[in-house]
Amino acid sequence: MCGLCLPHCPTYTQTRNENESPRGRIAIARALAEKNLPVSETLFRHLDQCILCRACERACPSGVSYGHLMDKTRQLLHENGMNKSNKLMQKLTTEKKMMKTLGTGLWFYQQSGLHWLANKTGIGKINALLPEKLSIKKWQSFYPSLSPERGRVALFTGCIASITDQETLHSTIALLNLIGFSVNVPEQQGCCGALHLHNGDSQQAKEMAQNNIQVFAELDINTIITTATGCSTTLLDYSTLINSPSADTFSMQIKDINQFLSEIDWQQEIKFLPLEKNILIHEPCSQKNIKIPHGKIQQLLGQIPSININTLPEKMQCCGAGGDYMMKYPDMAAQLREPVIAYLQQHPTDILVTSNIGCAMHIRAGIQQAGLQTEILHPVTLLAKQLAETRDNPVAQAVS
Ligand code: SF4
Ligand code: SF4
Repeated sequence: MCGLCLPHCPTYTQTRNENESPRGRIAIARALAEKNLPVSETLFRHLDQCILCRACERACPSGVSYGHLMDKTRQLLHENGMNKSNKLMQKLTTEKKMMKTLGTGLWFYQQSGLHWLANKTGIGKINALLPEKLSIKKWQSFYPSLSPERGRVALFTGCIASITDQETLHSTIALLNLIGFSVNVPEQQGCCGALHLHNGDSQQAKEMAQNNIQVFAELDINTIITTATGCSTTLLDYSTLINSPSADTFSMQIKDINQFLSEIDWQQEIKFLPLEKNILIHEPCSQKNIKIPHGKIQQLLGQIPSININTLPEKMQCCGAGGDYMMKYPDMAAQLREPVIAYLQQHPTDILVTSNIGCAMHIRAGIQQAGLQTEILHPVTLLAKQLAETRDNPVAQAVS
């Protein structure tokens, strides 16, 4: 009841409406659970307009577990038929075949040159969400180390990222292989289930979690590398979603690639090409939530000679991407992105690095709308691009 979380909440900051604040939403959720308020469109909207950025959770001095509370509340709403999730997105993330077909379709669309034509029409909006060059490389189940093997890990590829962010995933594999890690990429892995969980379909989310737990348990590894912090947060939550020792083991094995690289000793073996560019680090809310110690990405990129690194101001709030939030509430999402774009307009930036695919897509669309030239990369892709050996190295092929 203290309200200390209010100034940290992006939707409250925009609306100044207590119903759009963490404290207000908790009060609504409680009234709903205690059957003191009926399910209504207004009640649903206040709860659904929460981005689940969990900035309130970080700010709360009483340790209120807001994220879990809201997942349960949305489950209750889902059971009452209230759900504004994007059905196509949910289907795509559940059915791998459909996702692969979409990936191939988008690749052909980009190759065909039609995307330039499409810019003149409504469907050109899709271009803003896509990276400059999509790839449809087939995954191998195992990528052996290129130097004496110091360990084996597995890679979680994700659903959307496995088609729209192959550059990051292949850079991750290539870098890991170069520094002595073999990488397993199990074919049967699926989406983390975040969209289903956050839209109240916890049954489907549990089924997706069970599949991933089983697939990765079959491998002889003790680390599962993730590259998208949005997925990492959900994968870390499997131990809460499913009450079983295998779910606990799975969640304990999750390690974000930035965190993994900052915790092992490898830098002295590798040289990076200088890069005289202005880099801006964007920290996704999910990155702050999974507690990658502040400054680690700066430290990693700082190994590139001549690089100039800045970070977005600490007080900058959620960019508004929030999984499918940017599709469900595009106006609010665009409003929340505005400070990031304004910062880029005032501080010329060559490359913005972010570790979450959703934020990358949403901010890229804003950059294109504003006519800026800033490129968006994952920190690991930038590292891989600058490897001094890239001229004759498989990393170069992986990144190109
Ligand atoms: S999760 Fe984010 S948007 Fe939702 S109430 Fe908390 S701070 Fe506000
Ligand atoms: S969630 Fe925490 S910070 Fe927000 S009002 Fe409740 S106790 Fe205070």
